Amino acid sequence: MRIDSDKCVGCKACVPYCPVLCIKAEEKAVSIDEDECVECGVCFRADVCPTGALFMPKESFEYPRAIRMQFSDPGVQHPNFKSWGRGTEEAKTNDVTGKFGRGEYGLLLEFGRPGTGTRLSEIEKVTKVVRSMNFDIMEDNPLYGLLAEDMSGSFKPEYVNEKILSGILEFRFEENELEEALKKLLPLLDDLDTVVSVGLVTRFADDSSIPVIDKLKNIGLIVRPNAKINVGLGRPVIER
Ligand code: SF4
Ligand code: SF4
Repeated sequence: MRIDSDKCVGCKACVPYCPVLCIKAEEKAVSIDEDECVECGVCFRADVCPTGALFMPKESFEYPRAIRMQFSDPGVQHPNFKSWGRGTEEAKTNDVTGKFGRGEYGLLLEFGRPGTGTRLSEIEKVTKVVRSMNFDIMEDNPLYGLLAEDMSGSFKPEYVNEKILSGILEFRFEENELEEALKKLLPLLDDLDTVVSVGLVTRFADDSSIPVIDKLKNIGLIVRPNAKINVGLGRPVIER
């Protein structure tokens, strides 16, 4: 996003709408720090500019910068996955997709939300460790499409410095790998220059208990269970 300085009257009405605080208001001039802007389009859609000074320059649509809006603007369709917004169905559709089966756990890491955004370089610090443990990153996840072909967990170099509003990393592992996975990954998250929400996906046991809760408590983690109940609107396509 950019501000046309010939049209801007410095009213600052757009400033509070930016989720990553990159609209800078000096004494008279208002400008956008384009390196920090994630191209979410919120300031534009707020429709508060009295002079139409906010605009998307053609550079916003050119690669590698174009990935910013694909991971930040809910009105932009992801080109590879045809989903809108930030482009992942996540585990909440597991009743239908069967991504995470019995005897497995899914780990979801959501980077950058709320309100900070993240560089791909921060996510890459985690994807490299995930791959070093030989866990497969879900292929139907938009972040997967940014990975280098050697599958080392590095992103293609042209994307590493791009900034996005949020990105969700999903991968699965066997139940007996839980402790190793969490002990390696969680300390890493504390050192990242962004915020991360961590979700662990599991199925109910046949007796409706959630056995993983005790395992997590035993390794010192606070657990806040959330359940999604399929009321029949989605039909399972895979049984795992
Ligand atoms: S497009 Fe989003 S990130 Fe960029 S200046 Fe506008 S509100 Fe801020
Ligand atoms: S709302 Fe428009 S005129 Fe007011 S500071 Fe923002 S860009 Fe400038």
